[in-house]
Amino acid sequence: MKIETVTLNDGVKIPVYGFGTYQIPADGSTYKAVREALDLGVRHIDTAVAYFNEQEVGQAIRESGIPRENIFLTSKLWLQDYGYEAAQKGIEASLRKLKLDYMDLYLIHQPYGDVPGAWKAMEEAKAAGKIRSIGVSNMTPKIWNNFVPQFATIPSVNQIEFNPYCQQKKIRKIMEEAGVRLEGWGPLGQGNKAMLADPIIKEIAKIHNKDAAQIILRFELQEGAIIFPKSTNPERIKSNMEIFDFILNDEEMNKIRMLDTGRGCHDPNAPGVAEFLINAFDVHADEK
Ligand code: NAD
Repeated sequence: MKIETVTLNDGVKIPVYGFGTYQIPADGSTYKAVREALDLGVRHIDTAVAYFNEQEVGQAIRESGIPRENIFLTSKLWLQDYGYEAAQKGIEASLRKLKLDYMDLYLIHQPYGDVPGAWKAMEEAKAAGKIRSIGVSNMTPKIWNNFVPQFATIPSVNQIEFNPYCQQKKIRKIMEEAGVRLEGWGPLGQGNKAMLADPIIKEIAKIHNKDAAQIILRFELQEGAIIFPKSTNPERIKSNMEIFDFILNDEEMNKIRMLDTGRGCHDPNAPGVAEFLINAFDVHADEK
């Protein structure tokens, strides 16, 4: 199956469909799931140091037999590694864990603390060929306005929660004007049962002889998002990809657009969220 690519604002090409690895443990499951996705034709893998599975992602890529330049790999810097010098070390640590020479895309995972210092280190790593493209994640309009005007390099993407129940209209408008691509995390609402059983989605699924997840993912692609749903179930890894053989018409797209609740499961502007996140994942725990 040929998956389309789009060109980011820095000229880097990215497959619009990939495979997400959040919460897949590094007990062999990540290796197995990534190999399965690659065997099925996926060429874009999304990981992060805070997922604690970069090692298995890298191993799966290296042992896949697929030329490195044909796979698009994203990883992300976590909060303990912000600030210029810490970020320089964080980038090297990810490359070491992945056992790869470069990452295709690297993101500021959570936008708190010394983000400008970390960004400068990312810009330098890009110039040095260690990273091909740099972006941000979880930026709301408020956070965007706080940081992005300080950056010398405009991010290539903002990876944010995005699905029919959480359509992020305000930040998408800002991103569109700035030429920054939308990457949608939680494309299935992290397995949101209500969304997967939504009567509008089910009605459209019936017309196209597809399942609810396929309709949701197709909607997101047609909205211009780059997506990488996660599953460890081989049948779902396969069925989630079967979204390139049909098109939702304008009426169907508009019906799904109406499902937006304006809220997601994560509010990056909520008080205390930075403290919560830094305490939730310590990417240096294994060094202590
Ligand atoms: P997701 O929306 O991809 O949902 C995954 C869950 O949906 C699975 O665990 C499974 O329970 C269910 N599922 C998968 N396929 C299904 C199907 N066909 N039918 C019914 N249920 C199905 O959520 P996610 O994993 O959080 O998001 C995707 C990826 O985005 C992540 O793996 C990660 O790479 C990235 N992500 C990034 C951030 C960030 O802060 N930047 C946050 C969360 C996730």
